[in-house]
Amino acid sequence: MRQISSLRRKELNWSEKECLRLLYERGVMRPGELATELKLSHSTITELLQRLAEKGFIVYEKYKEARLSKDGTLMAMKIVRKHRLLEVLFVKMGLNACEACLEARKVDYLISDDLAYKMCYYLGNPEKCPCGKRIP
Ligand SMILES: [Zn+2]
Repeated sequence: MRQISSLRRKELNWSEKECLRLLYERGVMRPGELATELKLSHSTITELLQRLAEKGFIVYEKYKEARLSKDGTLMAMKIVRKHRLLEVLFVKMGLNACEACLEARKVDYLISDDLAYKMCYYLGNPEKCPCGKRIP
């Protein structure tokens, strides 16, 4: 049971995932910047950052800047990888790059590592997403 609860503790909701992605792309960010980007109130972003810090994904002191921890960097990298693989798949299915990005953003954090691995193989180990960004 302990294993299950620790897994659940590491689960992310969509806003938490987007927060990790932004920090991965931009490095260090202030809570106010994150609130604007994610269209969340300042109290909501403060709670969200505290949860991410408790889960060990970010380093954050209240009202100061936030940045990814080692665990958070790994988690964000995995999500970005899944996101870009999904984009490649969706473009192959006929979506344009922008549509593919929007759709991938909805589900990138939900798919399993195993599915991402199989998608990568199925897609012929692509190195770049449709916008030309490297797949980590
Ligand atoms: Zn994208």
